[in-house]
Amino acid sequence: MPEGRVIQGIGGFYEVMDLNSGQTVATVARGKFKRAGSLYVGDLVRYEMVTAEQGVIEEVFPRSIELLRPTVSNVDRIMIVFALKNPDYNLLLIDRFLLLAETSGLEILLVFNKRDLVGEAAVKKVAGPYREIGYKVIVTSTKTRQGKRLLLQEIKEGVTVLSGPSGVGKSALMNMVCPEITRETGEVSKKIGRGRHTTRQAKLLSLPNKAGFLVDTPGFTQLDLDFIEPLELAEFFPDFRPYFGACRFPGCLHKKEPDCSIKDAVSRGELFSWRYEHYLTFLEEAKRFKRLRTEQKYRGRKRS
Ligand code: GDP
Ligand code: ZN
Repeated sequence: MPEGRVIQGIGGFYEVMDLNSGQTVATVARGKFKRAGSLYVGDLVRYEMVTAEQGVIEEVFPRSIELLRPTVSNVDRIMIVFALKNPDYNLLLIDRFLLLAETSGLEILLVFNKRDLVGEAAVKKVAGPYREIGYKVIVTSTKTRQGKRLLLQEIKEGVTVLSGPSGVGKSALMNMVCPEITRETGEVSKKIGRGRHTTRQAKLLSLPNKAGFLVDTPGFTQLDLDFIEPLELAEFFPDFRPYFGACRFPGCLHKKEPDCSIKDAVSRGELFSWRYEHYLTFLEEAKRFKRLRTEQKYRGRKRS
């Protein structure tokens, strides 16, 4: 039975791209998958053709990562986009996006766009430290097309979700690498007709090689750190990792504790002090949310 990937779902119809041929087929779901919401964009499926043009989804393979709102399954990588200028980037906001991406467990790609608006020194100033920390960094311009080949190389396989503030050029980057983006009506849309009101669902846009896909909705819209345990926060700073286990206290939050390996590394200049400052900012936020959770739990208990 042929295998494919669900690239779009509209009103009970699913557009599936065949894993071998790269052709898209309009399908409906069979049996238990008929229930609304039981199939996700991104799902890898087995399907069968019932007429020359119509397929039926028979089986869904186990999902890896699921992103919510809107739901997308089997995402491989998150591409965080910031502009080098216009809007100006902010290191604290970059670190917040990186932190959220780290908690997802996805591969991370950091893209600095609008290269055409700044000089070499400005690029080095921000791309340098993040490369040093160990992040994969690509510098692009959708105006001069700089970085297009490198970017395609990085995202050529699997599913990539784009994230970043608005105005940094996410749509422009998608347009640059995904010629398909202007094709507004897929097989499914043609079948069920246009103009029908549907709720916003994610869609996968295939790259020219048909092996890589971009998700056309942002990876995360909620930037709060309300789900992060203060004690686990440091784990999401890859630059801190080499120093783990060497603090005097096992539950060290790397804040005021004596003999803290992270603080020592900062004072020796081995870690960027701004990264540590951002860590402390996020730590306060995570602690505040944790206090709120505890208070809510306590109030709940008192009532019952
Ligand atoms: P999004 O909100 O992140 O999707 O950003 P858009 O793709 O809508 O781009 C926002 C604005 O930045 C638009 O006016 C684009 O033309 C412009 N823009 C995007 N990429 C570049 C670039 O590489 N260089 C310059 N100078 N402008 C860009
Ligand atoms: Zn410590």
